[in-house]
Amino acid sequence: MYSFNTRAVHSGQTPDETTGAVIPPLHLSSTFAQDGVGGLRNGYEYSRSGNPTRDNLHTSLAALENGVRAFAFASGLAAEDTLLRTLVTAGDTVLLGNDAYGGTFRLINSVFGAWGVRNVAANLGDLAEAEAAISAQKPAVVWIETPSNPVLRIVDIEAVAAIAHRHGALVVVDNTFATPALQQPLTLGADVVVHSTTKYIGGHSDVVGGALIVSDPALADRIAFLHNAVGAVAAPFDSYLTIRGIKTLGLRMERHSHNAHAIAERLSAHPGILDVRYPGLASHEGHAVAARQMSDFGGMVSVRVAGGHEAARAVVARTELFTLAESLGGVESLIELPSAMTHASVVGTDLAVPDDLIRLSVGIENVEDLLHDIVSALDSVHR
Ligand code: PLP
Repeated sequence: MYSFNTRAVHSGQTPDETTGAVIPPLHLSSTFAQDGVGGLRNGYEYSRSGNPTRDNLHTSLAALENGVRAFAFASGLAAEDTLLRTLVTAGDTVLLGNDAYGGTFRLINSVFGAWGVRNVAANLGDLAEAEAAISAQKPAVVWIETPSNPVLRIVDIEAVAAIAHRHGALVVVDNTFATPALQQPLTLGADVVVHSTTKYIGGHSDVVGGALIVSDPALADRIAFLHNAVGAVAAPFDSYLTIRGIKTLGLRMERHSHNAHAIAERLSAHPGILDVRYPGLASHEGHAVAARQMSDFGGMVSVRVAGGHEAARAVVARTELFTLAESLGGVESLIELPSAMTHASVVGTDLAVPDDLIRLSVGIENVEDLLHDIVSALDSVHR
């Protein structure tokens, strides 16, 4: 098998048979001519059910995550919704990390909760707590996010997957923060990988999308049915943009990781910072596990600011290169205040985020320029 960066460039990108176009054409067509009733050309009938550009993205994603099959959706949450419809029914329990992405929790709690699906949150970074919760709750699904958004907790995928499987649960890993360039959950024992491809996989903040990748063909068939029957599929142009981003994923993750590491180290020494959350720092409680299951530590850094919520609000308003905005994983650096922005939906729950915590999505710009920007903003608040 070719190495990761070669697969990222070539998987699902065979030159066009008719013209030799090196970049396969973008198939915007919603429907496909039939040679007599049911005479489909290469199985294509209607673009919700199948589209050549989306299929190329599927091929690429399956190759990157070492899965048997992948599915692309209109958003990360659309992918999660179809996955949950596939895996759980009324009376089942989903066990998720108590630091899961707020939107994931809202979907499981408010949408699936209304249909009789229970959820329980636990610290899956603590193996004893994970084992106790899994054996007591008998969940149908254990939902892992590592590194998690935004507190960057690390979960030992191999260990938690082994516990979950012993108790008959299926294991889902949200691999949005690490990406397959740095971490491949299916090879560590997970059953399903979830992505918000909006983030690093797309990589340029110009497309919203999601994906599921699986290792079991029978599970793939069940997801395939709902992918079409529910219909929250990725559009052809979105699929094309996502493929375009994937080709540089490995390169981008190297630079994101390098820049984030430098920023995490510099901010650790700043008097205006109480705590730096970055799995690449030896001081991070999950560093050893991260070093084992990831090939680098990624581009996300979270910090707690001295002076509380108001000081944190002031810092995020004062950076120039780091744009104040939700989302993450693009080439440009972003800064945000999760308690008031991305994670406002979990305020008051077990998953609430400290209100002095700032999340940085460190881009691929020059690292000295980024350091100057964030340190100047901190200095202006903590003079
Ligand atoms: N999972 C994680 C870790 C995320 O950060 C997000 C979005 O921020 C999602 C899932 C949901 O993805 P989307 O916004 O593409 O629906």
